[in-house]
Amino acid sequence: MSECLFCAIAAGDIPADVVHSDDDAVAFRDIAPQAPLHVLVIPRAHHANAAALAAEDAALAGRLMALAGRIAADAGVADDGYRVVTNTGDNAGQSVHHVHFHVLGGRGFAWPPG
Ligand code: 5GP
Ligand code: ZN
Repeated sequence: MSECLFCAIAAGDIPADVVHSDDDAVAFRDIAPQAPLHVLVIPRAHHANAAALAAEDAALAGRLMALAGRIAADAGVADDGYRVVTNTGDNAGQSVHHVHFHVLGGRGFAWPPG
């Protein structure tokens, strides 16, 4: 099994509540949801963070952004508004070093973030 948690989820080695799966992306519900909608969008390929993903496969980065928008729309939160977040590095609290985009919706969000 992969040592990377999200590689293992993408491979199906660790179960997840998957809401979307295709050739190069998987989206699944966060195990500790911070909003009524909290889905993580990941590429199947391992990239450490968003900057690495964009540098290594910009087209894939674009497809993941489009997928995040579709997930929000399909969940019915697009009209009221939602948030897409990617944490990079220790100061931002990144805990899994396989790029992932949090899609959060279904409630209001403060700005600036904590
Ligand atoms: P980060 O802190 O790196 O921005 O986000 C990592 C996210 O992964 C957290 O929101 C955390 O709750 C979620 N997470 C950690 N382990 C698992 C897991 O095994 N399954 C799922 N579905 N989410 C996880
Ligand atoms: Zn990985």
